This record gives sequence, structure tokens and C-alpha cells, in this order.
Amino acid sequence: MNWASARVRADPKYFQRLAAQQSPEHLWIGCSDSRVPANEIVGLDPGELFVHRNVANLAPPRDVNFLSVLQYSVEILKVRHIIVCGHYGCGGVRAAIDNQRRGLIDHWLQPIADMAHRHKAHLRAITDFDTRVNVVCEHNVRTQVEYLGRNPFVVDAWRKGQSLAIHGWIYSIRDGLLRNLDLSIAHPKQVDALSERPWFPND
Ligand code: ZN
Repeated sequence: MNWASARVRADPKYFQRLAAQQSPEHLWIGCSDSRVPANEIVGLDPGELFVHRNVANLAPPRDVNFLSVLQYSVEILKVRHIIVCGHYGCGGVRAAIDNQRRGLIDHWLQPIADMAHRHKAHLRAITDFDTRVNVVCEHNVRTQVEYLGRNPFVVDAWRKGQSLAIHGWIYSIRDGLLRNLDLSIAHPKQVDALSERPWFPND
């Protein structure tokens, strides 16, 4: 209520304009964690960010909820940027690698567990568990960026010459800062280059 009246005071036509249409340029794929609110941490207003959130910010190639969001935002809204944003200390990532049973969520998190398993030799060398979780958080973002770069909706958009870039960021709840993980891709060749980039030094 207070929020709505403050908005109208600052811009009397605000809600009329917003109700007429949305034309966001960004799709946000982030974690459901209540401490990682999409619009607030990037400083964007309602109408500027199309948002998909799930536990551990996944872009699963067979999840119809996610795929519907992706198709709508790429083909109809024609977003120009897709941001996969992870966060350090993610409870979903932690649960994927701590070998405890929780139920249905274990199945949702299986792709992270699989990814960690593929890199287990490197990960075991990181003895501090919180540090290991954070490394997996970063690698999880990279995995989702790579999935997106091979997703048929994205590939078709690129083939049609649509301007569409995918980025991997990570947020720190401790300092409120976003970090760019330098994973941006906007062309199939960049997807291949990213896939060939080592995950760890000496990989
Ligand atoms: Zn999380």
C-alpha cells in the first residue's frame, strides 16, 4: 500500500503504463532463496526483469516450467540478455553435495551432484567445506550457461539473427555485491569455446 502510493507520487501514470504492457530486456534465472530478490539486487524496476527462480538457479533442459519461461521470453518478449545468477553459500548446492537425504529435493538437485561427481578429484582437494560449496556454486552457474547456449530456443534465436546474450553472475549475501563470472556468450562459437575452457587449473 505504502509502496504503491509512493510510486504514484513519484510518477502518477506509473501503474497505467505498467498495466498496458511489459517489455523487459532481461530474463533472470535465480535461486528461490529469500535473500536473493532479483529486482532489488540489480536495481531494476517492475517491468524491467522477467524472472524465473527455483532452488539453486537451474536451467534444466527438461523442465517444462523453465522451458515455458525461456520460450516466452526469447520468442515473444525478445529479451536481449539472460542472466543466470547464483549465490555463494547456496543451500541447494550445499544439499546437493553433503550426502544427506532430504526427499524430493534430492532429485531436483541431482544435476549438481552429478556435476560435482565429475570433478570430484579437484573438489576433494578443497578441504574447507564452505569453500567447496562456493566453488560448486560458481560451477553450477557455468553449467546452466552452457545448457542455455545449447538450448534449441536459444540456438534458433541466434540462427535468426536475434540479439541475445547469456551471462553468468554470482551474488554474495555477505556483502550484497554481484560478481560477473566472465561466462558471457552470444554466439554458438562462444558456447564451444566456453565448453573447452578448463574448469580447474591443470584440468
Ligand atoms: Zn540458493
